[in-house]
Amino acid sequence: MKANELLNQIRAPWLQRVSVSIARGAGSREGFSQQLDRLFSCLQQAVTSGNPAWLDSVIHEWTGSPTLTDLQQRHNNVSDLLNKIISITNDVAIENLPEQDALDLLTTVMPIYTYALEKTARLEMEARVTYISNELAEMQQKLERLDRSKSSFISVAAHELKTPLTLIEGYTAMMRDLVSPNSNGQIDTLLNGVNIGIQRLRQIIDDMIDVSVIDNNLLSLNVQPLWLSHLFDLLKHDLEDVIRERHLNLEIKPFPGSDLWIYADAERLYQGLHNVLTNAIKYTPDHGRITVDGRTLPGFIEITIADTGIGISPEHQSQIFEKFGQLGHSNLHSSGKTKFKGGGPGLGLPITRGIIEAHGGTIWVESPGYDEEKCPGSTFHILIPSRTEPTDPKIAKLFGKLEKVQPEPDGKENPPTDSAAA
Ligand code: ADP
Repeated sequence: MKANELLNQIRAPWLQRVSVSIARGAGSREGFSQQLDRLFSCLQQAVTSGNPAWLDSVIHEWTGSPTLTDLQQRHNNVSDLLNKIISITNDVAIENLPEQDALDLLTTVMPIYTYALEKTARLEMEARVTYISNELAEMQQKLERLDRSKSSFISVAAHELKTPLTLIEGYTAMMRDLVSPNSNGQIDTLLNGVNIGIQRLRQIIDDMIDVSVIDNNLLSLNVQPLWLSHLFDLLKHDLEDVIRERHLNLEIKPFPGSDLWIYADAERLYQGLHNVLTNAIKYTPDHGRITVDGRTLPGFIEITIADTGIGISPEHQSQIFEKFGQLGHSNLHSSGKTKFKGGGPGLGLPITRGIIEAHGGTIWVESPGYDEEKCPGSTFHILIPSRTEPTDPKIAKLFGKLEKVQPEPDGKENPPTDSAAA
């Protein structure tokens, strides 16, 4: 007997069984019966034509409107429903047809059901992927909004704090002038304390302003020729006292590329490198070692700043470059900028990253992990483009002339004359 005639024979018991076992309540059963009727007719068409695509319209309709709960709770409702329908078809065929006919019918309809199941699973998966992508995009927008309000809060707070700070600074200077002639040692000590506080506050406010400038892509570089070795000489000199106080050993190796004349913003690079070095000091226990080294890479100079400090766990290695990405507890925050583990507001590394990226470089950290006992250390890598020609034509003109008249600096390479810009 042909499969379609066999289908006709089981139509009534099939509709009855599926409708009773799946639809709950008389109301939903009525609406659902019509849908089932349609499905059965499409199944018959698919059997007659040998084309399972006859089921497409029903599948699209059933999978086309998943509820929010289905999507959130990852329900594959239509796939589950089809699986039940397949099982009921099996039972109904066996119960209502002679054995051989039931076998013939099931052999014909199973590939059609398999096609329907695959298609349903794909459509349900696509619906979920679309839902998750939309959720992610929404989340991304929320985060961006949050970041913007954080950034404008920093900017407003910094500018608001700056005015009273300038007043305090001015009045303190006046008080110092008034008391100095009588030279009262105690008042001098107190005024010194106020001054240290003012300087620290100014530093934090300046950092807040720098962060908001970087966030808003407003950092402009004052590019000029420099040698990295000069910057490190200056840094070593400026950090000498604290290195001595903390019994640390700072070694700056004369690495390849440190004596190359490159075009960069000396002041900003100093600031960026200073932040990394102060962190190395802060997070390395007394008697530890800090080593600056580097090498040249095609188009770049790589600087490495390695310490023998407490290290950074892998999951925090990218977080520390985000603003307020400090890892220590806030009760460890100290006003001493170089005290061991004396955390700050978490603005140093985001500023350094902003400065390095504004130069077209990049910064990252490598560390085996965080361990205050074993102190595995951290190594910060900084890539700076070895730009040996100025990008600004005005500067090119200025230094082009200087190149000819400038005496060769002792022990340094000549300013480059051929193009090796990154
Ligand atoms: P902070 O003001 O807290 O020092 P930074 O942005 O400079 O802010 O650094 C962010 C965090 O990164 C620090 O709080 C610290 O936890 C971690 N960190 C930075 N440098 C080091 C280092 N050399 N060794 C260990 N941890 C470090």
